[in-house]
This record gives sequence, structure tokens and C-alpha cells, in this order.
Amino acid sequence: MQLKSILILLLVFSCIMPVNATNNGDVRLNIIYMGQNLSHDSFTGGNISKNIFLENYIPKTNLTDKIIFIARFGTPMITIGNGSEPKVMIIAGVHGNELPAQIAAIKMANYLKNKNINGTVYIIPVVSPWGTSQNMRYWNGKNLNSVANNPGTPTNTILRYANDLKVNMIGDFHSTQPGSYPGNYSVLCSKHPLYESYNMAVNISNHTNSSLISYDRAGVDYPGAVEDMSNLEGIPAVTCEVLSPHGTANSETIDRSFNQMLTFLKFGNVILKFKLTMNN
Ligand SMILES: [Zn+2]
Repeated sequence: MQLKSILILLLVFSCIMPVNATNNGDVRLNIIYMGQNLSHDSFTGGNISKNIFLENYIPKTNLTDKIIFIARFGTPMITIGNGSEPKVMIIAGVHGNELPAQIAAIKMANYLKNKNINGTVYIIPVVSPWGTSQNMRYWNGKNLNSVANNPGTPTNTILRYANDLKVNMIGDFHSTQPGSYPGNYSVLCSKHPLYESYNMAVNISNHTNSSLISYDRAGVDYPGAVEDMSNLEGIPAVTCEVLSPHGTANSETIDRSFNQMLTFLKFGNVILKFKLTMNN
């Protein structure tokens, strides 16, 4: 049987029954997106361990192995917690070649898995595993941070999940190249329609030495961005950036992305007592 046929069968199968690859107590893994209209070019699944930077820096654990396995078939989502509020969502890898946040998100899943957290954390560490495996920025020729307003795309599907799950806030974690925009450690937000997004961005900015970049209204400068669409749909959201050339990562950029995520979780009252350290 050809690979394409196998993938189509898996896609059909997934419509009938969501794939649950594991159930480690309060940690669950699901595939939330496989592809669009049975088009092979739109499949998100791929072997992320082929990305040498990602492979070098991710924790070597049973949970990581399971994430890598199900990412071969589509976009994975890790759920940590029992489904109670507060519910927060961490997204990384909207751009496949932005590696620090994707590695940090996998580290975060491992960090939280044995913690007694308050509420529920949904982590989508690698939106487009195929893109990540190839260090490719775009999915199916599209910038996933400009099509979140387009039904059927991976980023729009993520927002559908966030709405259905009644997520209280979203952090979308990226990296930015030297000399590009914003070109530095930063937190982006808008003040309208949800001022809470601005409050969140101020807090993360203050605690992580990241510049605050605020826009007046969501959806004006960046229609179709995950953060903007989230705000327009009623879920406060920020975009966090670390400074890192595309297609690379090092321990500093990974740590700084991890700290942006940890501060985001503290703002959301998911983590109440833990110190801001990842040496744990
Ligand atoms: Zn990006």
C-alpha cells in the first residue's frame, strides 16, 4: 500500500475515533489535525526527530517519544490536568523553522507532567511536524500565522479546539531573526477588543526582559494571525518572540522561550508556587 493511501486511511480513521496515543494519568496526547481535503501536500505529520537541533535539545523521555511518534501522523496536542479551569493553551511551531519555542514547549510538557498544577494546560508544541522536520517555515505554501481566519487550516483548527475547550488564554510562541521585525525578545499584544491581552503582555514583558509591543486593535495589522484571531474570538492572547536565526536553536534561546511560557502560566494562575527555574 502506498504511503498516501495509508495516510488517507489514517485520516478517515481519525475522523471516527480521535487518536489517543497515551494516557499517563493526567497527561493525554491527541492528534488534532492531519490534513485538508485528503491533499497530501496539506498533511502536517512528519518525523520531527529528523530536525537535528530539536533532536539535540529535547528531553529524552517516554513522553517525548510519544510526542514524536504521534507527530508523524499530524499535529499533536498534549493535555495536562483534569480539564478544570483555568484552561490555558501554549502554541509553538506555527512557523516550522522557529525552533527554540518548539523545543521549549516539549520541555514544558515534560516539566509539567508530574507537577500538581492548578487547572489544565493544552500544549501544541509543533503545529506542522512535517515543516519542522524539514526546517520549513510555511505549511502547504502558506504562512500559518496569516491563515488562522481560514477554515480548514491547521491554525484555524487549533482555534476551533481552543473555543470548544473553553480555553481562557492563549500564548503563541515564536522566534525572530536579527534584523527582522520585531528582531528582539518581545511580547506582542493588542488592547482591543480584550484589554486582558495587554495586561498579560505587560506581565510577561516585565518578568522576562522582553520588549512590549502593543497594537490598538486586533486583526488590523495582522489579519489571520493566531493571536489576533484568538482576541477577536474572545480568548485573550499574546505572541512571544525570542531572538534566534531561523532553523537554529541554542540553550539560551530555548531557556528564554521556556521562561516566557512559564511566566504566561503563572499569569494564568496555573502555576502557583513553583520558582521560575527549569532546573527541576
Ligand atoms: Zn514566527
